[in-house]
Amino acid sequence: MENYQEMLNINEAVEIPETLSLLPVRDLVVFPFGVMPLLVGREKSLTAVDFAKKNNNLLLVATQKDSEKEEIRSNDIFRVGTICRIREILEFPNGHSKVVVEGIKRAKISRFLRHPECFLTRVNVLEEQEDGQEIPEVYQKQMLFYFQEYIGFTPELPDEMLEFLHHQDDPLFMINFISLIIQADAREKQKILQEPMLEKRIKKLLDLLREIIGFHRVRQDIDQKVQESLLKNQKNYYLQEKLKIINRELEEEDEVTSPELKKLEEEILAADMPDHAFDKAAEEFAKLKKIPAFSPEYTVIRNYLDWMNRIPWKKQTEDKLDISEAQKILDGDHYGLKKPKERIVEHLAVLQRVKEIKGPILCLVGPPGVGKTSLGKSIARALGRNFVRVSLGGVRDEAEIRGHRRTYIGSMPGKIIQSMKKAGSKNPVFLLDEIDKMSTDFRGDPASAMLEVLDPEQNRHFNDHYLDVDYDLSKVFFVTTANTRSNIPLPLQDRMEIIELPGYLEYEKLKIAIEYLVPKQFKEHGLTKKNLPLEKKVITRIIREYTREAGVRNLERQVANLCRKAVRYLAEKPDEKKLPLKNSNLEKYLGKPEFFDRKQQLKKEVGLATALAWTPYGGDILKIEVNVIPGKGKLILTGKLGDVMQESAQTALSYIRGIAKDLKISPDVFEKNDIHIHVPEGGVPKDGPSAGIALTSAVISALTGRPVRNTIALTGEITLRGKVLAIGGLNEKILAAKRNNISAVILPEENKKEIDDLPKELRNGIKIFQVSEYSEVMKQILA
Ligand code: ADP
Repeated sequence: MENYQEMLNINEAVEIPETLSLLPVRDLVVFPFGVMPLLVGREKSLTAVDFAKKNNNLLLVATQKDSEKEEIRSNDIFRVGTICRIREILEFPNGHSKVVVEGIKRAKISRFLRHPECFLTRVNVLEEQEDGQEIPEVYQKQMLFYFQEYIGFTPELPDEMLEFLHHQDDPLFMINFISLIIQADAREKQKILQEPMLEKRIKKLLDLLREIIGFHRVRQDIDQKVQESLLKNQKNYYLQEKLKIINRELEEEDEVTSPELKKLEEEILAADMPDHAFDKAAEEFAKLKKIPAFSPEYTVIRNYLDWMNRIPWKKQTEDKLDISEAQKILDGDHYGLKKPKERIVEHLAVLQRVKEIKGPILCLVGPPGVGKTSLGKSIARALGRNFVRVSLGGVRDEAEIRGHRRTYIGSMPGKIIQSMKKAGSKNPVFLLDEIDKMSTDFRGDPASAMLEVLDPEQNRHFNDHYLDVDYDLSKVFFVTTANTRSNIPLPLQDRMEIIELPGYLEYEKLKIAIEYLVPKQFKEHGLTKKNLPLEKKVITRIIREYTREAGVRNLERQVANLCRKAVRYLAEKPDEKKLPLKNSNLEKYLGKPEFFDRKQQLKKEVGLATALAWTPYGGDILKIEVNVIPGKGKLILTGKLGDVMQESAQTALSYIRGIAKDLKISPDVFEKNDIHIHVPEGGVPKDGPSAGIALTSAVISALTGRPVRNTIALTGEITLRGKVLAIGGLNEKILAAKRNNISAVILPEENKKEIDDLPKELRNGIKIFQVSEYSEVMKQILA
């Protein structure tokens, strides 16, 4: 094939003479539309070409039955051939020629004419489609499909060939083209050429293509195996041979008697797998039967089949889709959380309507202990679905999500499939905890695997490396949780609907404790109110002095702690009915308080400002202390400040030096003194730019001797020009301020939108100043 594009130019009508010389060819078959160079060397053939030159340049090309034969007679030639036109002749010095021919029509030899020097024939031109039937389009598609695969493993054929063929809508052209191009036995090709019915001709071609492709696959497989086995050393080879022999001996016995295999077989049949999974399991089972039970490979396959049998392939629970009931369950399990509940119920309503949610995945964002996990459980309860939870914290290897390839005894599916097994149904509520805590390293990006898990377009065919068959996750109700929004990988954020749970105020914690945590713990410890008098006052003290958190996890722990003390007390003193717990003797049971009421610390002071900070455990307040001491103009920073916070302190100082004149600070103050900034608690690392305006205020206070108003807390980044920039974690910070008896806060005006969106309960009872320049801060903060 010189140039397959040329094939398209051949369609003009040709007048065919009565007699045609015959060019017999070996090992190939020429088809109509095909352009092909033929090497001609035999005397008779050269004469046939000469004859054709005077005969409209036409001749018949037909294939000889036995390619080995030099001297042939008419009987040695297939009766059906292709009438061709000679396009070009190239003569070589040795007398041979290269003749480029183009196929025109199929023809059948009706008679051989006597001629001493070459074959002369009478032919009947064959119609391409004798029955005149339409060819179903599916055949064309199949031809293209198989040809594509064929091209895939035939490097000498350019990919454009497929492209070219895609644009041809004539099945006739397609069949001739493909038949000519493929490498196959000439006898098989001949069968196609001489088949009168077009449809049958196509079927023959398809069969041939399938056979070639099948053969290729087997060969590839063998090549690979040969390659692999070559790599193993002699000893290994010897052992394998030995094993093979043992296998053979054991094979029959296993087949009939092994109860283990029998049971396994039953389990495979009972697992109700979809076809593709069943095929795989059956294949592995067949392998297993041939392996002796003591070989390591046996264990590997055995484990694999155990997994396959225990994953829920089709089992599904029926949804309870009663929206008002769902609302009741959510309310019954959780105090407050109005917005999150509302959003969840909406989500369930959509589910009720469309049965399968393709929309965003819910992501509950907030500090620990605010009820994210327990909301997930309630969703499952409301829907009547099973519940599973998996923590993604610390996951950095893609294989943890997708599993390891089944290469060694310990390999296992990834977390997703493991959890599906735990869930026991294919439609559980699946909580993916701490999705913001995944990290990436050289072992691959778990976030991209998660993307596939969560994407409704892709998760129907989730591929775990261990299972190596697709598993359908599309019925799973995924809920994700995170501590901070900003750490969730961006592509995942795009697919999520974020629901924030910032944390609770003291009165809310009290309510949660009284209505939920205490009854729950009592139940778990088999206690009643009479056994353990937990008054409001006691709980409030626990909240204030024994926990410092945005959620209620530690509070629940402390309650559980008291319950254990009570149980033990009652066990040791059978006559007693209750633990003698009072507000005043709480320390006896819970030890010394860890935190102190901050009220006592709120004294007006010079060089001390209160910043609002965000931590993964919720908001908090930070005290910033500044001393100005004789020295050489150094800035000393202590308290484990991170890079960003240190730079923020330097920026604050530069800004202050810039406005020193307005503040009536003499310039030599900076040269003759060191400024020491310390942020307790010294052992806890702190970072971030949001303490900027608090740092600035504390330093100005220390330099000017004006005290800072101590009931105000600040948060905002500062620039060298004194601009105040936006901060994050606003909800948590306001909560922290309220928990710590702060009456007013100074916030960047840039956060206006979030400030306007603050829930009423949060806003109440706290004064908010919004500022865009530091000069505005100064007016409020310095007494
Ligand atoms: P998270 O997953 O956010 O870290 P959890 O869901 O584990 O938190 O919550 C910790 C405990 O606090 C659970 O026992 C939970 O039931 C309880 N809890 C949290 N928020 C509430 C609430 N609003 N009402 C009742 N209990 C709550």
